[in-house]
Amino acid sequence: MKCPYCHETENRVIDSRLSKDNNMIRRRRECGRCNRRFTTYERVEEMMPLVVKKDGRRESYDRLKIINGLRRACHLLGHTGPPRVIRRSRLLFPARPS
Ligand SMILES: [Zn+2]
Repeated sequence: MKCPYCHETENRVIDSRLSKDNNMIRRRRECGRCNRRFTTYERVEEMMPLVVKKDGRRESYDRLKIINGLRRACHLLGHTGPPRVIRRSRLLFPARPS
């Protein structure tokens, strides 16, 4: 991690604590060259899939967009009521993390 003041990469962690929601670690660091202090945050990389659009763009997975797309497709095909594909999938009621 580069020092934001002098761009040195050597530093040491002088304090490390978990955020209130336990989703992030805050680290207080001290630069090995200029001795100034700065803060970094560490969090788990989200593993959500990306959706590839027709034109090649990629956008974040959005559960509601999938559900609405399925509903629209079912409506166009003449199905009524909650589409079975939605009821049977875990789109509306995703599994709880174990
Ligand atoms: Zn520095």
